[in-house]
Amino acid sequence: MIRFSQVNKWYGRDHHVLKNLNLEVKQGEVVVLCGPSGSGKSTLIRTINQLEAINDGEIWVDGIQANNPKTNINKLREEVGFVFQHFNLYPHLSVLENITLAPIQVKKQSVEQANAKALELLERVGLAHKKDAYPGNLSGGQQQRVAIARGLAMNPRVMLFDEPTSALDPEMIGEVLEVMKSLAESGMTMMVVTHEMGFAREVADRVIFLDQGEILEDTDPEAFFTSPKTDRAKQFLRQIL
Ligand code: ADP
Ligand code: MG
Repeated sequence: MIRFSQVNKWYGRDHHVLKNLNLEVKQGEVVVLCGPSGSGKSTLIRTINQLEAINDGEIWVDGIQANNPKTNINKLREEVGFVFQHFNLYPHLSVLENITLAPIQVKKQSVEQANAKALELLERVGLAHKKDAYPGNLSGGQQQRVAIARGLAMNPRVMLFDEPTSALDPEMIGEVLEVMKSLAESGMTMMVVTHEMGFAREVADRVIFLDQGEILEDTDPEAFFTSPKTDRAKQFLRQIL
């Protein structure tokens, strides 16, 4: 579903931020991406739907080459849902309108069709009763669940998450992780940047450890947590566990 081959990216001339990355995510797989702050996790995940351009190599998503100038970026972004740390909901739109905006404007769905799908997704994230609320009147955990529903409204093949719980108060982290877990169980292909190692252990099929733009480990969670191969991964785990 996702393939990186020999991907390199620089910021400016000197900052080599992604170093010769090769990785594959199969359909239905859940991959947790972790690593120290500044290691390139956000950059990596943002290249998948071309929020960041790469300098060298190839990225493929479900048969579409993401880094090809001929690729229709909007088509690519329909396939790839993205959930950010700071929910990025439109404050002036209701919950329902936030979710239906892209299906109506981009996919040309009717309002009725988009509303029906949005309500189904709101049920799924436990927020049907908030359909007419505005983001400012929701808790952080609720806003993030709306953001997930919004991502799903385009029927993506892949969902990407960049530290979806880092901006939340501790008591709200669980409700968001629960929604992500049930999404994983439904068979969605997911790539998740997170420091929630409980989630990684319980839900991920694989853990990728990134350090200074290099993939140092790409293994199953059990192996990563019990016997990391590199000193840098060991040090990282000591710091966060
Ligand atoms: P992470 O998400 O792992 O914390 P990032 O991908 O955000 O790491 O950043 C990796 C490195 O690239 C950091 O050193 C960061 O300062 C730098 N960086 C990120 N975005 C930009 C940008 N737009 N321009 C220049 N440097 C950037
Ligand atoms: Mg980041």
